[in-house]
Amino acid sequence: MVGAAALLSEAFLRVFGPASNLRIWRAPGRVNLIGEHTDYNLGFVLPMALELACYAATAPRSDDRLRVFSENYGEAREWPVGRLAAARPAGHWSDYLLGVARELVRAGYEVRPANLLVWSTVPPGSGLSSSAALEVSVALALLDGRPIAPLELVQLCRRAENDFVGAPCGIMDQYVAVFGQKGAAIRIDCRSLEHQPIELPAGIAVLAVNTMVKHELGHSSYPERVAQCRQAAARLGVESLRDVTLEMLEKARAELPDVVYRRARHVVTENLRVEQFMKACAEGDLATMGRLLVASHKSLRDDYEVSCDELDFLVETALGIEGVLGGRMTGGGFGGCTVNLLEAGAEDCFHREISEAYRRRFGRDCQIYPCVPAAGAGQL
Ligand code: ADP
Ligand code: MG
Repeated sequence: MVGAAALLSEAFLRVFGPASNLRIWRAPGRVNLIGEHTDYNLGFVLPMALELACYAATAPRSDDRLRVFSENYGEAREWPVGRLAAARPAGHWSDYLLGVARELVRAGYEVRPANLLVWSTVPPGSGLSSSAALEVSVALALLDGRPIAPLELVQLCRRAENDFVGAPCGIMDQYVAVFGQKGAAIRIDCRSLEHQPIELPAGIAVLAVNTMVKHELGHSSYPERVAQCRQAAARLGVESLRDVTLEMLEKARAELPDVVYRRARHVVTENLRVEQFMKACAEGDLATMGRLLVASHKSLRDDYEVSCDELDFLVETALGIEGVLGGRMTGGGFGGCTVNLLEAGAEDCFHREISEAYRRRFGRDCQIYPCVPAAGAGQL
């Protein structure tokens, strides 16, 4: 993408001065088609990498510092590289970079003094995974061409988010940022850590719609959901909800607190929906694909309780627009985006109608992103 390279070079020059050998690394955001809140339960997910991406431009420094600048936030931070192994989080965006640097050092990779500028087109906090795009692009920039096994890169970035930033996310976001494929979604088995490409049938379009809100509730609720799933698994005597069938769950219903039962029911049925979606996809059964998205949304809304008025409104409204096959909230929830499946050709009408309805109802504009499966991370 020539535009991004020019923009990054210009910004780098402005912030850090001339660099003779500037290298730029890219890692994509993603939209998850189906399989929500299943990754940390070692289940199935079906995301696709997006053109929206984070770019990290880097050049060496002659002192002992790692200096980072976010073009999006207009702010810099720096640390001596010798102290990265003992770094502590500060509750700041730079934690994502510092966490990645620390994990690299801990894994035995030297982090060399460098200037690093990041710029992302992934809207932050919108469920399109700006955080993993940031982590993976930064890891590649800090390695700057030194080899790393792709799965190690995934796991290292996830540790940065889990252990350093303190967000107990599953493996999906980092995985698809690394392994995403142009032209296909990928179905990830979050236990075996294997994936397969899933091409979408011809004649459909995928659009994400951003509510442009993020409710505070989301911060505490994500770890709470993770804990409730662990509790359900422990009560059912399994390692993870991946091992639970609907029959097992129904049999144990009376012994589970209702809320724990419903959380588990979402995860168990959502894993089934991923498999059903793949089958419908292979058969070109667009109507079933759409219905499964809507069923996923209802499960996330009623059983998992991670939706919000804005997301529910967008899904409801979308279903009334001609050519819409289905839609659901995507990402962690409590705001962020919906993902919508449309018959190709229905995009313009959808754009117009959903924008107007959202503005009328909430007095603010939503943002719409056409989603086409893009490649995973690499050098620009
Ligand atoms: P999501 O991954 O869905 O976008 P998260 O809450 O997981 O939402 O991550 C968003 C956070 O990632 C931001 O609040 C910010 O701290 C960090 N972040 C993302 N992109 C950038 C960027 N370009 N520059 C600095 N920080 C960023
Ligand atoms: Mg994230």
